[in-house]
Amino acid sequence: MKKYAANIEMYIGPMYSGKSTSLRNKMAELMESAEFAEDAPSYYRFTLEKMESPKLSTWKTHGGVEIEGALINSFSQIKCYTKYLLIDEIQFAFYHCENNKNTEKEIFNEIIEGKHVYLAGLNLDWRDIPFQTTGYFACVADKINILQSRCHRCEKPAQFTEKITQSQSRFDEQAQYLPICRNCRVETISIESVQKTSV
Ligand SMILES: [Zn+2]
Repeated sequence: MKKYAANIEMYIGPMYSGKSTSLRNKMAELMESAEFAEDAPSYYRFTLEKMESPKLSTWKTHGGVEIEGALINSFSQIKCYTKYLLIDEIQFAFYHCENNKNTEKEIFNEIIEGKHVYLAGLNLDWRDIPFQTTGYFACVADKINILQSRCHRCEKPAQFTEKITQSQSRFDEQAQYLPICRNCRVETISIESVQKTSV
């Protein structure tokens, strides 16, 4: 059996780069062209919040567009009977199942068989450390769209994420984040290190 018998397209980028909006647009496009029930897209989103079962929910993208889908913690919670599967926040895919990663990867392979799959995820965390989970799916994707945002300091294209809230947790959905460009990122890091050495 072919392992990745699906067509996988990804949207990768920092905060506010339009990842969720790209998925939302894809969903609208698919819904409009759907002729039969099996053509309708199914929308899921990984969350850090504990979900015993998928929770139907409505949320807003950073651009203010509403999306309806199911909040999940693992691939085993996905029940997709249609041809199109859209999954957001893919960087959190293994967060709740660190010890069952390989099983989760197998479940992913099973549920995507014969489907068109669209995934969106963060590239780097606020310390500029790559999300390995996003990287894993990028390696099996057929097409990757690398999105950029606008730097909140200088308006130039941004591919990094700055954390505004003063907490040290790597995963913090409640913290405030903003996109930042390479130059401004380098500047803020050098200011931080000067402050640290002068303390
Ligand atoms: Zn900048």
